[in-house]
Amino acid sequence: MDFSWSEEQELWRQTVREFARKNITPHVRDIDSNRKIPKQIMKGMAQLGLLAPTASQDYGGAGVDWTMACIAAEELGRADISLAIPVMYLVEASWGYIFSKYGSEEAKEEYLKRITSGEAFSGIAVTEPEGGSDILGAAKTRAIKKDKSWILNGEKIFISGITESLNWGGIHLTLARTDPNKGHKGFSFFAVPLKNTKGIKTTLLEDMGRMGISTGGFVMNDVTLPEQYLIGELNKGFYYAMEGFSAARVLIGATCIGASEAALELGIDHIKTRKAFGRALGSFEGIQFPLAEHYCNIESVKLLTYRAAWIMDKMYNEQKYTHHDVALAAAMSKLRAPIYAFSVMNEVADWLGATGYTKEYSIEMGIRGVRSYSIGAEGTMNIMRIIIGRELLGKEFLPYGT
Ligand SMILES: Cc1cc2nc3c(=O)[nH]c(=O)nc-3n(C[C@H](O)[C@H](O)[C@H](O)COP(=O)(O)OP(=O)(O)OC[C@H]3O[C@@H](n4cnc5c(N)ncnc54)[C@H](O)[C@@H]3O)c2cc1C
Repeated sequence: MDFSWSEEQELWRQTVREFARKNITPHVRDIDSNRKIPKQIMKGMAQLGLLAPTASQDYGGAGVDWTMACIAAEELGRADISLAIPVMYLVEASWGYIFSKYGSEEAKEEYLKRITSGEAFSGIAVTEPEGGSDILGAAKTRAIKKDKSWILNGEKIFISGITESLNWGGIHLTLARTDPNKGHKGFSFFAVPLKNTKGIKTTLLEDMGRMGISTGGFVMNDVTLPEQYLIGELNKGFYYAMEGFSAARVLIGATCIGASEAALELGIDHIKTRKAFGRALGSFEGIQFPLAEHYCNIESVKLLTYRAAWIMDKMYNEQKYTHHDVALAAAMSKLRAPIYAFSVMNEVADWLGATGYTKEYSIEMGIRGVRSYSIGAEGTMNIMRIIIGRELLGKEFLPYGT
């Protein structure tokens, strides 16, 4: 075993940290208030290879492995505790990878280079109005082949990046049933551009946090796509979705580490200097003991998350692990990371006293932002527990049947 970072990993971390400290952190409050990520930040991220960094270099990606992708996610979480930029990053890193790996040459030529250069957005559209956890039961979206086109009808909801896709252009990898009689073996993925596409009607929702990236939905009414917008093989969409979700969950873990550390650092600075009853707050056991607990929690999530990234790298590069191993490791990270991050932010808000409840500090943006991860983005906490149970007991123990 070796817990040290390589020189390349250290250099990558320092480069991303320095970039994010200078170019992202000073703008986080404005991003939260103005509800958009400035174009110059996107450009800077593109130059550093931070947009869909896991995509192939042939299409402008950085071709980084998952450990490197997590390092960048951690640094972006540290720089933007509201988690808007980290969410944009992790959605593109995970689903941009799926697009890069399975998308047709024509679709990638049209969109992927624009995604990696920050000119277009790439998102994911799985959730439907009747439910996100039980997508097999809830999914109504249908895609039917007609001559050389695909015709899509249905509705997706709670989708990140609606405004971004409309303003910048880009695609949402969209799950649709192509063979309704085949259960999970009857789904396919399509690249659906929202901007200027006939038959698309979008809506927006008002979130409580991560305000820099929009959430909404879209209805597809006879949306006609060229056949090359099918992602990968017909009826393999569910498997691609599970592959992308695992990656996204590990990256969520990494962004939570950075955001948790930023919160804890803010808290430590405060409890070392703020005095009560004639002593620094940090000298009271009532403050120190939770500090020790939160520090241990963050370190444990680091181990879970980077082990998950390591397993992914071993699976993709050496075929040493399976998608089941990755799903289990990713679910463990996603189950712990947002809960611990929320808990440390909540604690630090207490330490800050009344200013913790004001917009003086970034902590309130963190509390609002991180809750999106535990409520549902990329899978709820109970879905993580179901995945862990499935991997420990076997799929015949799934609560909803096999
Ligand atoms: C900010 C945000 C951004 C999002 N972005 C996207 C996106 O870009 N693309 C996308 O496709 N989706 C996105 N989602 C949707 C997300 O994937 C879903 O919210 C999630 O899958 C849960 O679905 P649901 O909201 O319909 O809740 P439901 O599935 O209705 O679940 C409600 C509750 O019931 C629990 N539950 C369900 N089944 C079980 C069970 N068998 N046992 C125990 N408990 C259970 C769940 O854990 C949850 O607590 C986003 C969500 C949020 C909050």
